[in-house]
Amino acid sequence: MAYSVPPLPYAYDALEPHIDKLTMEIHHDKHHQAYVDKVNTALEGTPLADAPIEDVLKDLDKVPEAKRTAVRNNGGGHYNHSLFWEHMMPDPAHNKRPSGVLANEIDNAFASFEDFKSKMKEAAVNQFGSGWAWLVHDGSGLAIVGTPNQDNPISEGKTPLLGVDVWEHAYYLKYQNKRPDYIDAWWNTVNWEVVAERFKSAS
Ligand code: MN
Repeated sequence: MAYSVPPLPYAYDALEPHIDKLTMEIHHDKHHQAYVDKVNTALEGTPLADAPIEDVLKDLDKVPEAKRTAVRNNGGGHYNHSLFWEHMMPDPAHNKRPSGVLANEIDNAFASFEDFKSKMKEAAVNQFGSGWAWLVHDGSGLAIVGTPNQDNPISEGKTPLLGVDVWEHAYYLKYQNKRPDYIDAWWNTVNWEVVAERFKSAS
């Protein structure tokens, strides 16, 4: 069963004014679709064609060598974007910070929620070129990591809880070169309930 782009769980304009409608349309319908099409082509006819994308990315050595780069990039693109759409939501005044166990763990790991945000922003702004910044569970606790291109922490044995796409296609129409402004706005879209669920499963 080939992969497919999951439908957005909200309207294209639902993340306005933080992320604009046209960016969402192009990002979801064109960029994500292209990753899906390419990873499907790469895996077609291989024993991994029916494997969940997480399983493929967790052990890229199992991918035939000739296909490995295509699968790493495009399978990673499919997985990363599937997570990204899911842990955003329309500006939720009630939900701009985590609560419960996740909030405590963030305080323990990073001193405070504000310190966490500033460290994650730093990772996102300083990710050279295209890539992602992530809050992960690394097996022992929370950490922030950056990945280049469409790499994902699961390929290094870590569980991604929250990721921000810092490819220019994620922000350039509205923010041009101002990646820090995009990160500041993006925080308003984070669905902390989804992040908390992922944290619960990982810990
Ligand atoms: Mn993207």
